[in-house]
Amino acid sequence: PRQTQIGLMSHAELVSEYETQTANYAKLQTEKLTLDLTRGKPAPEQLDLSADLLSLPGSGDYRDATGTDCRNYGGQQGLPELRAIFGELLGIPAANLLAGNNSSLALMHDVLTFALLHGTADSAGRWVDEPVKMICPAPGYDRHFALSQSLGIEMIPVPIGHDGPDVHAIAALVAGDPQIKGLWVVPNYSNPTGVTLSEEVARELVSMPAAAPDFRLFWDNAYAVHPLTDLADPVLDVLGLAAAAGNPNRPFVFASTSKITFAGSGVSFLGGSTANLSWYLKHAGVQSIGPDKINQLRHVRFFKDAEGVRAHMQKHRALLEPKFALVLRILEERLGPSKVASWTEPKGGYFISLDVLEGTAARTIALAKEAGIALTAAGSAFPYGKDPEDKNIRIAPSFPSLTDLETAMDGLATCVLLAATEKHIGD
Ligand code: PMP
Repeated sequence: PRQTQIGLMSHAELVSEYETQTANYAKLQTEKLTLDLTRGKPAPEQLDLSADLLSLPGSGDYRDATGTDCRNYGGQQGLPELRAIFGELLGIPAANLLAGNNSSLALMHDVLTFALLHGTADSAGRWVDEPVKMICPAPGYDRHFALSQSLGIEMIPVPIGHDGPDVHAIAALVAGDPQIKGLWVVPNYSNPTGVTLSEEVARELVSMPAAAPDFRLFWDNAYAVHPLTDLADPVLDVLGLAAAAGNPNRPFVFASTSKITFAGSGVSFLGGSTANLSWYLKHAGVQSIGPDKINQLRHVRFFKDAEGVRAHMQKHRALLEPKFALVLRILEERLGPSKVASWTEPKGGYFISLDVLEGTAARTIALAKEAGIALTAAGSAFPYGKDPEDKNIRIAPSFPSLTDLETAMDGLATCVLLAATEKHIGD
């Protein structure tokens, strides 16, 4: 029988495989594709699910249940009704949740900037007066890392496995270095590996001794309500766990409706202890006289309650599931036999994380680019863009149509195989 595992091929078999993949690639190039698998953007059909938002709250509807005129200034913490809906989904009391403007990334930027310039509720001084470091489980979300880097925060990568980041490595770092002030973490269906933290890992993160008294978890629950299966992973009560562990101020929880309603016009959320929220509000109050409450009101009208959000997410799932299934099918069909790649099979979220043969991710991505298939830059899921093994590729299946996705994935598979064959011949 023909040898399908590239790593086990004889030289003659490798040469033949190389010729096959070179021919496949040449054919791919003649197709003149322009396909994009770079970002986890909702597809237009997903945005259409929230089309009614465009006519809400409607003329004449501008007061929330407490009678607040949402057109006016004020209401720094956001509408109570909306905080109640998302508080239920995020496992956070409405009083400990703030509803903001359209971007949770902006809230993360605010929290870090306020900490750097003013210190946190538990800081002896401004973070910026000392070197600041953050632990970055990797592969992780590239924009977290870009944010840390742009603010001059040193990033310390820690590997992330099947049940989350390596907590033992994290505990040792956090206990030993007072300059470590934070940890990035995506607790549910993480970007890009799809991992959901276990309660045990969460407990360790909120309770581990920290050399810095103002050590913070940047708990980015961007995909809290984004399951792709019937059994949604639970959302952990991280604030409750932290309070029980005696570290109530450790977590800052972030979330948004970017992948629920409109990615560019949703509502962001910040959850925290009373001390953390007062601290945030004090500084945010200098920056702005209040968030866009009309946008918040139309979200209240649109969803009505937490169940409304869950039902809406099932509609997203119906659109996303076939795309994830398609990607997984092509990966299995095209890359399974060669044994040069492995990938995640996420139960929710927006990404599939593909690991190709060590030392070939950059080459694969370059080949794909040449063939008109855009992928996130090699290494982008790692701090400083450095993938130590040059093997990780993030696949974002949401935006392209099924037809485009199939073409792009098939093309990508050809690039993976060509790069792997080249590498083996070179070795
Ligand atoms: N956090 C994570 C983990 C994400 O994947 C994304 C979107 N790709 C964001 C935050 C961005 O959130 P927002 O649109 O609320 O700024």
